[in-house]
Amino acid sequence: VSSPPGEFALIERLLSRLGRPRRAILGPGDDCAILRPTRARQLFTIDSLVEGVHFRLTWGTPEELGARALTVNLSDIAAMGGVPTAAVVNLAVRSGLNLAFFERIYKGLGAAARASGVEVVGGNVTRADQLAITIALLGEVRGGAMRRDTARPGDTIYVTGTLGDAAAGLRILSRRLHGRGAARVFLVGRMLRPTARLKAGQRLAQIRPAPAAIDISDGLWQDLGHILERSGVGAEIDASALPLSDAYRATVGDDPALALGGGDDYELLFCLRRELAPSALSRRLGVMVTRIGRITAARGATLVGTDGARGRRIPAVAGWDQLRSRSGA
Ligand SMILES: [Mg+2]
Repeated sequence: VSSPPGEFALIERLLSRLGRPRRAILGPGDDCAILRPTRARQLFTIDSLVEGVHFRLTWGTPEELGARALTVNLSDIAAMGGVPTAAVVNLAVRSGLNLAFFERIYKGLGAAARASGVEVVGGNVTRADQLAITIALLGEVRGGAMRRDTARPGDTIYVTGTLGDAAAGLRILSRRLHGRGAARVFLVGRMLRPTARLKAGQRLAQIRPAPAAIDISDGLWQDLGHILERSGVGAEIDASALPLSDAYRATVGDDPALALGGGDDYELLFCLRRELAPSALSRRLGVMVTRIGRITAARGATLVGTDGARGRRIPAVAGWDQLRSRSGA
């Protein structure tokens, strides 16, 4: 009922082709990879892309899918200020997909790995009901890692890039939002071909004291919540300060709902003890940086500036959904 054994073996052989052992003493092909010892602290993370949950094959190319599977992991390494080093891949293969399809997935994954200096040192292929790509990724931090539990009252909160683009792109792909022209291409591209902010994360991690940081994978409001919870603090966010792209404004309008609640942007959110000008930070990190709020001693997150001139405070203790219904967004 599924692909013949011969083809299955070929897919496995594809995986071995990704490895070009440099950092690894032994790459794919044995029971385990062997990595060289290192003095640096090791970061270790894992993430999956599952068909029907995180993607549909009609949305983009297999190359984009393979690259994105690595990028979502790279983003976690970026959030801690690390340098990604080695990965292992598990591919869950369903019936109805041919070898050429997997060659293209591996092509995209391999290109993303080379571009980020990652060695794919091993992998596994399994039959399943749904296509899924799971990647475990190692990284190194030379100095201190950025963590979620180090935000303090008075810290200034910043984000890289623009927010809500991928969420808008996802809605365009699933026909819940109409996009056109260059704006559509940009937003859909932000969903299908996200960028992990590795350089920015590594440069941020050199700031002392190390900033609290997280990558925005589930949406600004939810990911900010992780920092607040882990640090035992609150935050005040200025809705009017959220960085929205021209494509977002042209397609969604000025409503920041998707920028607050939408996921998949893979930008970084970070908190600095000593306030720095966004323009100077942008130059230092090599990506646009925007100041969006402040960490407070009072628990919970508060959104200000959403209610026109009155600037009413809208506390959002129970997450974005509640905030959304209160603000009528
Ligand atoms: Mg993350």
